Amino acid sequence: MSSNHELFQRALQLMPGGVNSPVRAFNAVGGEPFFTHRADGPYLWDVEGKRYIDYVGSWGPMIVGHNHPAVRKAVAEAIENGLSFGTPCAAELTMAETISKLVPSIEVSRMVNSGTEATMSAIRLARGFTGRPRIVKFEGCYHGHGDAFLVKAGSGALTQGTPTSPGVPKALADLTMTLPFNDFEAASKMFEDTGSEIAGLIVEPVPGNMNCVQPREGYLQHLRELCTQHGALLIFDEVMTGFRVALGGAQAHYGITPDLTTLGKIVGGGMPVGAYGGKREIMQQISPAGPVYQAGTLSGNPVAMAAGLAMLELVQAPGFHAELTRRTILLTDGLQALADGEGIDFTTTRVGAMFGLFFSSEKIETYAQATAADRTLFNRFFQSMLKQGVFFAPAAYEAGFMSMAHDESIIADTLRAARTAFAELRQ
Ligand SMILES: *Cc1c(COP(=O)(O)O)cnc(C)c1O
Repeated sequence: MSSNHELFQRALQLMPGGVNSPVRAFNAVGGEPFFTHRADGPYLWDVEGKRYIDYVGSWGPMIVGHNHPAVRKAVAEAIENGLSFGTPCAAELTMAETISKLVPSIEVSRMVNSGTEATMSAIRLARGFTGRPRIVKFEGCYHGHGDAFLVKAGSGALTQGTPTSPGVPKALADLTMTLPFNDFEAASKMFEDTGSEIAGLIVEPVPGNMNCVQPREGYLQHLRELCTQHGALLIFDEVMTGFRVALGGAQAHYGITPDLTTLGKIVGGGMPVGAYGGKREIMQQISPAGPVYQAGTLSGNPVAMAAGLAMLELVQAPGFHAELTRRTILLTDGLQALADGEGIDFTTTRVGAMFGLFFSSEKIETYAQATAADRTLFNRFFQSMLKQGVFFAPAAYEAGFMSMAHDESIIADTLRAARTAFAELRQ
């Protein structure tokens, strides 16, 4: 078999940057990505046979570990009956019922094929339902690669956004307004100024794409109240947090009811799946029930539904999220103690089975703090861990994910490698 390096050289000729999604390319940390041949439980094996303890978990879906036999079996059974029908199938109903049972704010849902599709559809719906043009998002939150989200705060007029990618028209970016996460005042002011033009506010209730940042006490409630007061829809993007920070997602963990929710990652059990849903009255605006258009050739695919349903069965095991939380604490507390022992400025965040590692002396609560953490130290830590067979996300701004396959011995192995990595940082 070819080496990682040989494959990457070939890949560079075939795909932009050698990858099908940017962060896989290791540009943030330096070096070249490894090519995975096989995954099982907490492990990935690359094409050279090297084994890694994996805290990326396919960027979120693998909350029971890789290649779980129950998910594999469900997929194997489903494919016996064909790969795609293009007609309704009963598994879609079981999926919609399961989602509504686990996330009760979702009375009616629509399946799509990625998180990106879910968020793009949700903001179209918010605009269609309210008849208003503006969307509010937060600096550092990621909602997929839809045009409306590739926007940062403009330097001039407060309300007008600036595209963060060529190809996003300024006219469109102007309709996306950006707020600093965890800033109560800024949100109040924006709604006071432009509340009547805001169709919806979309937020990662626990941001996991600026590393992992916890909402301040009462912050999500504050956003809920502002949206209610000004007739804007509150959209929780739970593509990452859904079924992860708690069985019912961040909305269950913090006791907030959004108007719309977007899902992805875990809901597909490792297959390309997303979903959005919410209040019946709002969702009834989606075609063919209502006038807001949204469609998908492969949406509700029977094989993908089988994988997702098997996964959602597994996450309902009694004590599942409490145990994941306990393991996350074991890991983050363990890392903290090791860093403290070496006198390295280091801090962690965590909610449920999501965590963040920061080389910083501050308690991290904002995007500015998250991005001010020492990236050079992170990159050296990442490389040392990788060399020792532990794979954290290859960028300082990504959250880490715990899985049910990461038992105490895996965490102990991780901490053993981290002891070496932290010691190396002092040299
Ligand atoms: C991953 C992610 C998305 C995008 O999902 P894709 O399936 O990659 O399109 C959207 N929102 C959040 C919060 C995510 O973490």
